[in-house]
Amino acid sequence: MTNIVLFGPPGAGKGTQAEVLKEKYQWVHISTGDVFRYNIKNNTELGALAKSYMDKGHLVPDTVTIDMLKAEVEKNPDAKGIIFDGFPRTEAQAEALSELMDRMNSQVNAMVALEVDDEVLVQRLLERGKSSGRPDDANEEVIRERIAEYYRKTDILKNYYQQQDKYYGVDGVGSIKEITERLSAVIETL
Ligand code: ADP
Repeated sequence: MTNIVLFGPPGAGKGTQAEVLKEKYQWVHISTGDVFRYNIKNNTELGALAKSYMDKGHLVPDTVTIDMLKAEVEKNPDAKGIIFDGFPRTEAQAEALSELMDRMNSQVNAMVALEVDDEVLVQRLLERGKSSGRPDDANEEVIRERIAEYYRKTDILKNYYQQQDKYYGVDGVGSIKEITERLSAVIETL
């Protein structure tokens, strides 16, 4: 089983690339943002809780996110590989993922990070907000808060995976196809 953490700030292109890689390698794609949005749409208790954080550009609390992620992984016992998109976003989440993988006699093989400048991110997210219907993309203040939250809590995970020799940075600016090729070049060395 090959497990990849697709990493990068909001707007880096994780969701787009995860969908391409999922088809290419026949892996399962788990996006915590998508699962939260699904719950919001279906008016679940989890959705209401997540929304109160997402609307402000903040992270949803770890305990909630970790329990949800575990449930998603358990739905896919026969996966050949999993692409984690939007998880882990804190050190506690990275520890939880490592324990979960241990219990499955598996491991995170690599963190592959899409690198994109902050101002490019803001422009991409504002552009996406015109059509995505995502309230967190419609407001520049919320976008900037998400990026700030990324630097406060998430960016540090680079060190976590670097210490295990599992960190790979990839230029996230270019066409979708070019970026898929860059990611595939890393994946094929694993
Ligand atoms: P982005 O485009 O900002 O990367 P996502 O769709 O991955 O967006 O996530 C949207 C929002 O969902 C985040 O801003 C955050 O509030 C919440 N969220 C997603 N993943 C996590 C996580 N691992 N931990 C906490 N909150 C999360």
